[in-house]
Amino acid sequence: MNAVSIQDLEALCKQCGTCCQASIPTEDGRQLVVKGLKCKYLLEKSDGSTECTTYATRFQTAPWCMSLVKAFENQAFPADGTCGYVSSPEYKGKISLSDSDYEQLEPRILKSFIENGQPVWCSDQDWLSLLRRAETISLSKSLNENGLVDVTTLFDKKA
Ligand code: SF4
Ligand code: SF4
Repeated sequence: MNAVSIQDLEALCKQCGTCCQASIPTEDGRQLVVKGLKCKYLLEKSDGSTECTTYATRFQTAPWCMSLVKAFENQAFPADGTCGYVSSPEYKGKISLSDSDYEQLEPRILKSFIENGQPVWCSDQDWLSLLRRAETISLSKSLNENGLVDVTTLFDKKA
């Protein structure tokens, strides 16, 4: 049997960036992609593809970065079969919602992240964008009245 080279393995990646995007577990064991939150080393290019800016030394510079096996086990790959490392239709990976469906869940998602503070893998820019988004939602939907943390206060601390 011929050995599979690292280059052969890496050629299976389509640079979609999904495995480097933040997600939140769903009740049925999948992972919901969190819009706008990703590893701070993920570069999003103008053609829609992505690139890791620390790939050669990623396990040193980004301790949260997962090996292929760990990423597979943690459902970090997309569930729609578009990742070259997933062949089983049973795989419970990451799912993305339509904008309208996502908006329904967004307050709970933002609340969950904000309560835990800025993750180490999240850039300041993405975190501020998340806080601004939460602030916008809280203004339009009175989320604070429903138990959300006061994101305006958090934003002031960060700015
Ligand atoms: S999800 Fe799969 S195809 Fe997309 S970047 Fe990750 S390894 Fe590559
Ligand atoms: S360090 Fe890991 S998680 Fe971050 S962009 Fe690179 S491959 Fe993705």
